[in-house]
Amino acid sequence: MTSSSPRFALALHGGAGPRAGVDYGEVEAHLAALVARGEGLLRGGAASVDVVEEMVRDMEESGLYVAGRGSAPNLHGIIELDASIMDGATQDAGSVAVIQDVVSPIGVARKVMDRSPSVMLAGDGAIRFAAANDCAPVGDPNAYYVLPVGVSEADLTVTDMSHGTVGAVALDVHGNLAAATSTGGVFGKPPGRVGDTPLIGAGTWADQEVAISCTGTGEKFVRAGGALTAAHRFELAGDTLEEAIWNMLADVKKLGGDGGAIAVSKTGEIAMLFNSDGMKRAAVSNTLPAMSMTFGACR
Ligand code: ASP
Repeated sequence: MTSSSPRFALALHGGAGPRAGVDYGEVEAHLAALVARGEGLLRGGAASVDVVEEMVRDMEESGLYVAGRGSAPNLHGIIELDASIMDGATQDAGSVAVIQDVVSPIGVARKVMDRSPSVMLAGDGAIRFAAANDCAPVGDPNAYYVLPVGVSEADLTVTDMSHGTVGAVALDVHGNLAAATSTGGVFGKPPGRVGDTPLIGAGTWADQEVAISCTGTGEKFVRAGGALTAAHRFELAGDTLEEAIWNMLADVKKLGGDGGAIAVSKTGEIAMLFNSDGMKRAAVSNTLPAMSMTFGACR
């Protein structure tokens, strides 16, 4: 591992909702194994857009995060999910919002990007698109999801009830960046609620300079400008990558929210910052050995 190798970098997050006193050992072990797998893919020449999709798909299917299989039902007891992906090389993007009955919302978002003229599909249209494009359905929701479907937040007794999301950003050895984010949203959300995650520019952004994935109180990220605001701070306003992310998070805080974001630049720099209590996260690059953490200093 030398700095003269082709540059690659990968960062993952599993949401900014960790709570003190909860043992996240299983999550940290999962993130460590996953980021090592991502490292192998990037070293082997995989495209960043394929790697971020694969990383997010794995986290969705693990049931360890508030995304995909680990999502919580909304106030009506229904699981509605959001996801988005962006390829920095082309600025192609795809997203789904308020989608139901799919194993991998990020897989559907990727197909929206690759197979449709749309950037975003929501609700019934997203569900129909997934079915028409061979996206695996969940089947019996009570057999698939970790939490029981058809109950409200008040009925649930879990330790990590605030919010959660999963995301990945990557620079590949060809110099291309990509970002992907997927969420079950916030607990107790009303039916039809859409946060920052599926909004290109709010929860997810990638261009030729930087790739960013956010997690936290989605409404505040939308109102603070989210990922694109951080990208523009970095690209146009002279902020370092860490300053750009931190200043955007500070705006989220001023609006009464909190959360975090992961970012990778075209030079392989990685930022993983949060102003919530913690953020499940992992990273690796050709100059940084693989690491995974939940709490700990962020800057
Ligand atoms: N940002 C997500 C949302 O508002 C939740 C989270 O990241 O925890 O839907």
